[in-house]
Amino acid sequence: MTPGRPVPPPLGKPLTAAETQETRTGPGTLTAAMGATSAESGLRPLTLARRVPKDDDVEIDIEFCGLCHSDVHATRGEWGSRPYPLVPGHEIVGRVRRTGAAVDDFRAGDLVGVGCLVDSCRECDSCLEGLEQYCERGNVGTYGVKDPRNGNAITQGGYSGTIVVDRRFVLRIPEGMDPAATAPLLCAGITTYSPLRYFDVEPGDVVGVVGLGGLGHMAVKIAKAMGAEVVVFTSSKGKTAAATELGADQVVLSREPSAMEAAKASIDVIIDTVAAPHDLNPYLRTLRLGGALFQLGLPPSDMPPVSPGLLIRRRLAYSGSLIGGIAETQEMLDFCAEHGVASDIEIVGASGLNDAYDRMVAGDVKYRFVLDTKTLHTPSEKADA
Ligand SMILES: [Zn+2]
Ligand SMILES: [Zn+2]
Repeated sequence: MTPGRPVPPPLGKPLTAAETQETRTGPGTLTAAMGATSAESGLRPLTLARRVPKDDDVEIDIEFCGLCHSDVHATRGEWGSRPYPLVPGHEIVGRVRRTGAAVDDFRAGDLVGVGCLVDSCRECDSCLEGLEQYCERGNVGTYGVKDPRNGNAITQGGYSGTIVVDRRFVLRIPEGMDPAATAPLLCAGITTYSPLRYFDVEPGDVVGVVGLGGLGHMAVKIAKAMGAEVVVFTSSKGKTAAATELGADQVVLSREPSAMEAAKASIDVIIDTVAAPHDLNPYLRTLRLGGALFQLGLPPSDMPPVSPGLLIRRRLAYSGSLIGGIAETQEMLDFCAEHGVASDIEIVGASGLNDAYDRMVAGDVKYRFVLDTKTLHTPSEKADA
């Protein structure tokens, strides 16, 4: 524990010793949460039973949790049916409350984070390479999926007072980082950091960023911290000042053919964060020989086809990328601490979550909402999930 950073009081209801004994295989800490009970319910107060920490587990008192666009899609059932009740949230920062007997790398009071993953098979080639997000048997997401090592219980996310996670999937947050502004790094940050690292962006490179939302604003900040020159593509003239404020060296209005023509063959790598279907070919034309476009947003329907001729004539790569592995997420957090990179956030209370979702859908946030878990209700005596 760092001197001067007191451990906040636990938000969940601690179990008595007798309860702990008899619930080794049953419910653990009861904790307040905000979640959906159907695709139409919106977010409402719920009570979760977190498991009693097993030998390798870390129980965390959550302080802040970022609101990601995928939370909206998941709770509203827009990405296929989900089990309900569903507590979203995978940009989690908090302090260790207690640890299992085999945990010696985390202690009570440590500032830690949990991102989009809470487990994976740990054995396949991807997992052995530290690419747990690409686990060949399917990674275990932080919410809304079965957790095979825990009796196939459905995982429940960070809009809650506590969470219990295997130590292998817990990140260390460097002291001195702002816990609330760091939370979005655990999804938006790593999702943009990973392709930039994969492409080996270094000083002198030119990075293009398409879309200036939660992901896009992190891409600008991280690419700048890597020493790149940053070009933001936006369809709205109104975002020019905001892009410059974030550190963009140049803003290109993507709907102006002359501006796109002027940017032709000038960029090394493009991070495309737009989740709506859109034509990539105008962006591919702005890439230099050997350039790459990484698509990070998952559109709900097909997009106009990419022109093979564009790829062939300048040996371009068109790629996707999914979050990052645990080791790389830790590397990203350390990088952001070193370079003073954090998310621009608006803190929201539990009662404001549904409005915040509507504002996210409308693109009305600069750039990430973060839930302050101090505003959660008191958990009830009986768990909903
Ligand atoms: Zn996310
Ligand atoms: Zn695996």
